[in-house]
Amino acid sequence: MEREIDLKEITDGKFYTANDMVKIGCNDCKGCSECCRVVEDTIILDPYDIYQLQCGTRMDFQGLMEGSIALQVVDGIVQPNLNVRTDGSGCVFLSEEGRCTIHGYRPGFCRMFPMGRIYEGDDFKYILQVHECAYPNKTKMKVKKWIGIQELSKYEQYVRDWHALLRKVKEIIGKTENDTIVKNLNMYILGQFYSKPYSISDTKELQDFYPQFYERVKEAKAIIEAYR
Ligand code: SF4
Ligand code: SF4
Repeated sequence: MEREIDLKEITDGKFYTANDMVKIGCNDCKGCSECCRVVEDTIILDPYDIYQLQCGTRMDFQGLMEGSIALQVVDGIVQPNLNVRTDGSGCVFLSEEGRCTIHGYRPGFCRMFPMGRIYEGDDFKYILQVHECAYPNKTKMKVKKWIGIQELSKYEQYVRDWHALLRKVKEIIGKTENDTIVKNLNMYILGQFYSKPYSISDTKELQDFYPQFYERVKEAKAIIEAYR
């Protein structure tokens, strides 16, 4: 998501890589679920998140749309976000005891929090949002361990590639005044990368996402180019 932000106000002023140590350890959030209660519609989901949710919940995109996720427009592009409960108690995946019921399959935004990503071109660095988690006496941890995702360098490359694809789509949408193009392109991206089911393994292994994603990117490139 592109936002006009003053990094000095919300971060410690540093940029981090996966191998850096950062003061984020919060004792596995013991006794706290504050950030999951106030998320509203801010957890934007990328295709890997949807794939993970499919693995973790065994629901397809349509099933997830029946309460677990919703759609919103981010920078001109229709994208899904995690849903929150209507009674104001937070994310639909937060249990009554205040624990995440999909912890092993939680979205990338949740994995990073209170860290975030800042992009320059199609590359990114991690940032620490210093006002987001009030847990006292945090300990230092490696970013890589904090995120806890399998094959992190592969995942990071996927994040860059997905960002690059969205940038292209956004550029086309930004230049056209034709509402049909905007609608059709959005429908295509939503179908190609989100609602078309990913094949998931019975063992709930996550590694086979990337070949499926890059196959879809290959197909999508020519179609996106045709909208230019
Ligand atoms: S606010 Fe901090 S300690 Fe509380 S749940 Fe979120 S990350 Fe964990
Ligand atoms: S998916 Fe889990 S970690 Fe993310 S907001 Fe919901 S309950 Fe919290």
